[in-house]
Amino acid sequence: MRLHNLGFPRMGANRELKFALESYWKGDSDADKLLSTAQGLRQRHWNIQQQAGLDLATVGDFALYDHVLNTSLMLGNLPPRFQQGQGISELDQYFRMARGRAPTGEPTFACEMTKWFDTNYHYIVPELAADTDFHLASTLLLDQVKEAQAAGFTPKPVLLGPLSYLWLGKVKGQEFDKLELLPLLLPVYAEVLQHLAALGVEWVQIDEPILVLDLPLAWQNAFEAAYNHLQARNLKVLLATYFGELRDNLRLACNLPVAGLHVDAVRGREEVTRVLDNLSTYKVLSLGVVDGRNIWKTDLHALLAWLEPIHQRLGERLWLAPSCSLLHVPLDLQAETGLDAELHSWLAFAVQKLDELRILAQALTQGYGSVRAVLEANQQALHTRKVSERVHNPAVARRMASISPALLQRTSAYPERAKAQQQRFDLPLYPTTTIGSFPQTPDIRKARRDFKAGELDAVGYHAAMQAEIRHAVEVQEQLGLDVPVHGEAERNDMVEYFGEQLDGYAFTRLGWVQSYGSRCVKPPIIYGDVSRPVAMTVEWSAYAQSLTAKPMKGMLTGPVTMLQWSFVRDDQPRRDTAFQIALALRDEILDLEAAGIGIIQVDEPAFREGLPLRKDGWKPYLQWAVEAFRLSAAGVRDDTQIHTHMCYSEFNDIMPDIAAMDADVITIETSRSDMELLEAFSEFAYPNEIGPGVYDIHSPNIPAVDSMVRMMQKASRDIPPQRLWVNPDCGLKTRQWAEVIPALANMVEVARVLRGTA
Ligand code: GLN
Ligand code: ZN
Repeated sequence: MRLHNLGFPRMGANRELKFALESYWKGDSDADKLLSTAQGLRQRHWNIQQQAGLDLATVGDFALYDHVLNTSLMLGNLPPRFQQGQGISELDQYFRMARGRAPTGEPTFACEMTKWFDTNYHYIVPELAADTDFHLASTLLLDQVKEAQAAGFTPKPVLLGPLSYLWLGKVKGQEFDKLELLPLLLPVYAEVLQHLAALGVEWVQIDEPILVLDLPLAWQNAFEAAYNHLQARNLKVLLATYFGELRDNLRLACNLPVAGLHVDAVRGREEVTRVLDNLSTYKVLSLGVVDGRNIWKTDLHALLAWLEPIHQRLGERLWLAPSCSLLHVPLDLQAETGLDAELHSWLAFAVQKLDELRILAQALTQGYGSVRAVLEANQQALHTRKVSERVHNPAVARRMASISPALLQRTSAYPERAKAQQQRFDLPLYPTTTIGSFPQTPDIRKARRDFKAGELDAVGYHAAMQAEIRHAVEVQEQLGLDVPVHGEAERNDMVEYFGEQLDGYAFTRLGWVQSYGSRCVKPPIIYGDVSRPVAMTVEWSAYAQSLTAKPMKGMLTGPVTMLQWSFVRDDQPRRDTAFQIALALRDEILDLEAAGIGIIQVDEPAFREGLPLRKDGWKPYLQWAVEAFRLSAAGVRDDTQIHTHMCYSEFNDIMPDIAAMDADVITIETSRSDMELLEAFSEFAYPNEIGPGVYDIHSPNIPAVDSMVRMMQKASRDIPPQRLWVNPDCGLKTRQWAEVIPALANMVEVARVLRGTA
């Protein structure tokens, strides 16, 4: 039985790749340094995987920035704006596409980046034009195969398959059916396979994750033609699918002319029997049995009981692997010295997941006796998790059982509430506000570092944060913003900050997961019932309110975003965890209200991200996601104003659900699309108030008054001015004060122009 892996984390135990990249981009080190760091990481990672017992070394999963971008480079798919510029190295072309700039070459606008299926990894979107000239343009993959062979590994190269590549790409310029590019793409893939065969490669993994999506008929049909074309190149293709069930693509996937099929046997466990029944008897079946999307230990006993008959049926044709690439989990639990022993015993990161594979294989081929001690320890750990009082909190269970429809309902409908709120706050037309955070300055970060290191005491840290808040409030007073915020100086991160104060959450020291390029996130782990021991933000918000007569806006992260950006429990539905968080937030909101905070924003930037990959999962998800938001916010009085904020979002297909959240005010990102995203709101006749972001906070540029006025005028053609707010696209934490002050001064001026008081 062969063991293999679909992909491995790239960054290194201490994020060596991140630091090497950033140093190269800054010009502090040269390409050789970067490339040798990368090579060192590949070697180390192959070693780790070999030691864990894998038979094949996956090659081509590594990327300096992104594996989809690697594929574009290999296929010669460079958009025209990156083609000029003699003498720019392949490496710098690559970074220009990813980031718009590199140590050499003129800056230009980067390629788009978007989420990789339903993960928090972001890939660089291939740009597709009718005249794209695909050709084998890079030997990177072949070089790495040689690199692995020279080091004594048996490489299994991985390619992103031609259909998934096209599906993930975006048509630029003249519209056309991108599937028409397939015949141009296939010869390049065939050429790559030929080269790989010539190098003596036996197995190639071709990833076609789009087989777990709802595919149009034309795309389904294209699979057979494509894989017929790539057939019989004296090497064996393992077609890999992951992230879900195959459903109506199952027979298609089983019948393609390839030597093996990998399926996600975590999310797709239920359909494995059907796969077995449809798979030809010559094919290898790779079962992804260890969850590559979460950090919990596998229940080895249960899995073995399930696997045994399959193993008997398939014998050597059964391979085992993680469900998907391990790119989406942290590297090594061994590094987590800060977690208590019990919690530690419940977890498995990338390295531990490979250990699990080896144990499974050993149990199946040599009998359970050969790994008895490990199996017992596994069962013991799972048992303590199942019965732990840290996981199951009766008080939370009681509250969950008491949730009634009434809890999801504000006292009055929006029109009533709007009147009460107008009476209370007396805001002018086109009220101005910001999304919450102000610059996280080096001073703030230093204070937090010193505090965590014990070099600054709690009193000193508290005073430093209060000083930041005071400064932020003063600036906003001077600028004349109508609804100020406290600026979030005390928050390291919008999820971590709350997670640290809630029961049921744990944090790792080095549990980094790549988000995009060199950027990594450290998702919290929700291991138990969530509850709020004490108020989390009231003191800061009340302090900020004490400094101004204007209504201070309180600031919280919503239940869906708290869930979406964490590793979550696998022993209860996501909905239940979201509701528990919502109950904790509900308490916080009521405490804020009682402390005199009359305007409270509940951020849900990840609301749309939570949508399942398959359309039929949308409705149930949206139902509980909306309910979770309402559960958190609906307890307040009519004259307390609830805001929500969403960026990274398209709205047209989820408008009824956005409206059902029933926030009094929603602020959204619109400036980068020149208010296009707002059209969904006007077409739907969105009934509550909206703040369409008038300037892009991702850019250091100071937005001009007239461009913002023009945008607001465009907005007020569709939305009644009484329901429009003026605000930036998102929080300002990544900017500098020197940029923020003039930008907001212009933004406030916009409101004056619109009101006719300029
Ligand atoms: N309140 C948060 C901030 O301003 C919102 C961040 C977000 O939407 N991603 O930073
Ligand atoms: Zn935002």
